[in-house]
Amino acid sequence: MRVLIVEDERRIADALGRMMKDNKYSCDVVYDGLDGYLYAESDIYDVIVLDIMLPKMSGIEIVKKLRANKIKTPVLLLTARDSVQDKVTGLDSGADDYLTKPFTKEELLARIRALARRQGEVIIDELTFSDITLNLSNYTLVCGDKSVHLGFKEFEILKLLMANPKIVVQKEDIITKVWGYDSEAEDNNVEVYISFIRKKLAFVGSKVGIGTVRKIGYHLEESS
Ligand code: CA
Repeated sequence: MRVLIVEDERRIADALGRMMKDNKYSCDVVYDGLDGYLYAESDIYDVIVLDIMLPKMSGIEIVKKLRANKIKTPVLLLTARDSVQDKVTGLDSGADDYLTKPFTKEELLARIRALARRQGEVIIDELTFSDITLNLSNYTLVCGDKSVHLGFKEFEILKLLMANPKIVVQKEDIITKVWGYDSEAEDNNVEVYISFIRKKLAFVGSKVGIGTVRKIGYHLEESS
């Protein structure tokens, strides 16, 4: 799962970012409304956590603009004021839920999970292709009676390939979805992880391989 945090109080923003990472979510953190909008507009997130009072563009304006541009990512608004009007305005503008500061870590994580579920993500707990199964809750790749644990990036890349079994997944998409929108990762970072995944597929004795389409990307293939 990939979460965008938009919060101008750096201490809070960075704490939220760490909380997401501890929970094994990929996460980008930005500190003003304009960056918030630009990141959110990329439409790569499963949930956006948005402070209302932000410099450059308010949380409410961001949600309105996203919805006007048909971006449906679930939005959780954070509000410092426990005012009914704020909540009504927020929900009317297209936000999905709100949380009043201060809140507990458990409360925030529960709301994020609920929003992601509503969108249809993360309900499935495994993906299968040919003779392999990827367990989404414990990052395990299983083939027959053999299994192996995957590192976070190996897992995210294989998940992307298995969720799109009929198409060539572009390297660019892998970088954006696994490393993040503003990451400096390059094609050879992806290649390194693809080679790790190939070794693990061989280790579990699967007939599934990862085919390379030069300069474009990768796809799953099955050897007979
Ligand atoms: Ca603020």
